[in-house]
Amino acid sequence: MNQNFHLQAMEGFVCTGSQCPRSCCSENWVIGIDAATLEKWQHLGEEDRQYLLDMVVAPESQPQQMGKNPNKSCVALNRDKLCDIQLRFGHDFIPEVCRTFPRSVVQNEQRCVSTGSFSCPEIVQRFFSSGTQTVFSRSVEPSEKSDASTLLLNQAADVLDVILSQKKLPLGVMLFYITDVFNDIFSLYHAGQLQPQALQSLEDNLGANLQDIVSLVNRGEIRPDSVTAGSFWRSIYSMLTTADIHTKYLSEPGSKLKQLMESPESHENYQKIYQHISFMRKNARKSMKLLNPMLRPYLKAYFTNLGFPFAPKYSHEITLVNGMLNLAVLQIMLWNQNETHGTVGKQTFKECITEMDRRLVQNSNVAMQLQSDSHMLQVEKYCLCFIDLFSGA
Ligand code: SF4
Repeated sequence: MNQNFHLQAMEGFVCTGSQCPRSCCSENWVIGIDAATLEKWQHLGEEDRQYLLDMVVAPESQPQQMGKNPNKSCVALNRDKLCDIQLRFGHDFIPEVCRTFPRSVVQNEQRCVSTGSFSCPEIVQRFFSSGTQTVFSRSVEPSEKSDASTLLLNQAADVLDVILSQKKLPLGVMLFYITDVFNDIFSLYHAGQLQPQALQSLEDNLGANLQDIVSLVNRGEIRPDSVTAGSFWRSIYSMLTTADIHTKYLSEPGSKLKQLMESPESHENYQKIYQHISFMRKNARKSMKLLNPMLRPYLKAYFTNLGFPFAPKYSHEITLVNGMLNLAVLQIMLWNQNETHGTVGKQTFKECITEMDRRLVQNSNVAMQLQSDSHMLQVEKYCLCFIDLFSGA
């Protein structure tokens, strides 16, 4: 059985081009030029061909890519913020990545998701205004039998769907539980010991398991220890500041958070950091509660766009940890907004999502770091910190 999913927000999507508040052509993104497009350019007349090839740069060991203006925008972007290649030669002559962005397809043998990137503000806008009850429409068609591993991953994706659909479950507990459970699932999967019955039993007992965890969290019996949590949030803050995130989403200069995060590393300072994080978290509860109806469908689309867990972009473990760390960065951005403005409005929330997606989801730096530093992949040591995410929502 093949399952096809379509992000509802993509229905009728049209790029807003020069009207876009965050044109993708203005980003300092690598715009690779695919071989088929280069081939088309080669068949143009001499003058046109030269015009196009003059825009190409070919760094060593990388495929050819579009050059940049001094302000880092694509060299083909003209003064009216329109693509000069598209204007002169038509849509078929722009690189494939420009023809398809923000559309993308995430798939394995049996599950195919046509989706859209949250780096595009128009997608984010449409997503939240399209009535987010049905995030993805689904159709099913018969197919050849698939291998056991594909079936297991799709069954795991169904388990994730059930967890994400628990409407009353606090989001922090949900994210902690997803990390904890999928960490175990992947260990068993890689050891060849994951059985369909185990996933089924997990799904059947989900309600009771989650109830137990919520009770333990509410009674304060499971919570992150302050040193681990302080050290975790310090790493997240460092991700935030090195990811080229716009300064308006960072801590105000001279803020207490900034001072603490820049203080020398010590157990005492970690505890102070977590104390302040807890203070910011409590202050932001009202805002998080207001954002709750937006956060829940967003998380569903977010995990699906990562291909988690059915077709992960990186290894399963890296995709899981990277995905959670990105959400923690989003959370600090929201806390900072709450500190600065006393609240986080819906539009600010949407802008934070776009910014986080552009700087982190579209960027493989953290994944590469995780690949070389297996310490952060030992997620069981700090996954309790995820309980604090979006708390109040
Ligand atoms: S970010 Fe989206 S709407 Fe904006 S220019 Fe790119 S594709 Fe078009």
